[in-house]
Amino acid sequence: MSSTSSIRVRFAPSPTGIFHVGGARSALFNWVMAKQSGGTLVLRIEDTDASRNSPEWTEGIIRALAWLGMDGGEYEGPYFQSANADKHAAAARTLVDSGRAYYCDCTREDVVARTGDQHKGYDGFCRDRGLDPGPGRALRFRTPYEGQTTVVDLLRGKPVFENALLEDFVIARADGSVTFLLANAVDDMSQGITHVVRGEEHLPNAPKQQLLWEALGSEPPVWAHIPVIVNEKRQKLSKRRDKVALEDYRAEGYLPEAMRNYLMLLGWSPSGDREIVPWEVIVEEFRIEDVNTSPAFFDEKKLRAFNGDYIRMLPVEKFISACLPFLEDAPFEVDMAVFAQLAPLAQTRVALLSEIVPMVDFAFLDEPPEDERSWAKAMLKGPADEILAGAEDAYRDAPWRADELKTRLEQVGAEHGLKLGKAQAPVRVAVTGRTVGLPLFESLEILGRERTLARIAAARARLASATG
Ligand code: GLU
Repeated sequence: MSSTSSIRVRFAPSPTGIFHVGGARSALFNWVMAKQSGGTLVLRIEDTDASRNSPEWTEGIIRALAWLGMDGGEYEGPYFQSANADKHAAAARTLVDSGRAYYCDCTREDVVARTGDQHKGYDGFCRDRGLDPGPGRALRFRTPYEGQTTVVDLLRGKPVFENALLEDFVIARADGSVTFLLANAVDDMSQGITHVVRGEEHLPNAPKQQLLWEALGSEPPVWAHIPVIVNEKRQKLSKRRDKVALEDYRAEGYLPEAMRNYLMLLGWSPSGDREIVPWEVIVEEFRIEDVNTSPAFFDEKKLRAFNGDYIRMLPVEKFISACLPFLEDAPFEVDMAVFAQLAPLAQTRVALLSEIVPMVDFAFLDEPPEDERSWAKAMLKGPADEILAGAEDAYRDAPWRADELKTRLEQVGAEHGLKLGKAQAPVRVAVTGRTVGLPLFESLEILGRERTLARIAAARARLASATG
């Protein structure tokens, strides 16, 4: 594909469930192709399976695309397949009139009885029976018995399909509703689609759809069937087994920038030894022809690490605003002036935005959060009470600065033969509730003398009541 030719691509999801990472990757590949060629991305909601559709899923798709950075200005549509019913019916009539489709009243059982094989395709029984339309009659495409259909696939060269193996497939069911194969092909034709970029599971449909394009007098599109996405066990990602909903990732605090960079790597890689690359570079460098055909491993750990890197790249004000939705849902009131002080300390330590809440809660709760394991670890062995008592004394009149607080606790530790790391633990748990968290002395500085001393005293009281 030359980068100057103007192309029309489309993303054509069926709104039959939660929007997942595979759909998002297809949308992104198409979007990038449109962007880099000055072409157009069409969003088409394939909502013809009325029993499985819901407006809620459609909204989810549109919301997720917007989250990834694609909004109505970036694509044409959304169009709804259900609005094209007249075009689908007209195409079916054209195919009947030109002799390329015929009515058939065979049931599945009839076909199996004749062929003696559960797995064999349709045997062409009604091809020459000249049936009129009527109840219980489906419409089948008259696939050539001979020859081959060759599709041009940008990832796979020119796969060749023997026509003899492509049965006379159904294009309209006995109830008159058209099938996916026809509706999807007719919409692509009428929307002027030049490149069909979609999941590999649709590769077997390509020759059938190409035959439809040709029978309806259109020049077929260029195809690109992108590889399946698999989990760590090399199983195809599944809604039931794997975490695939884009919405879940958003809710955990993945950044859209990290997500879309990562999704672009499912089958493709940028030049050099890089994986984390600015979006502009992706748009510049992506070539659909370079996408691999082997299954792409969706590595959540790696995505998480990406996300941490993306979080660290944010200017701190952006980081603070990205944290806001998570803080709003937190079970405490946040003083933004205090949060602004904690944010730079936290930004280097979270991989997911949702991790911000347990990292800063100590500063906003009246009492430190309770964590029994941390308590046991830091308070029930070693000279915890002596350290806390020493800290109380040392901090009562200390200049309230992190470096000063550190030096004083170092001295207290030394008096009990403890290195700073060990001496810190009881103080950290007394003040923040947990053994791990933000740098301790900066945290104390932000929390202030009064609250720090009150928490140390409360921890000592608890220790005394447990032992006394
Ligand atoms: N609605 C189909 C799907 O979601 C579209 C396939 C295609 O892109 O042609 O699988």
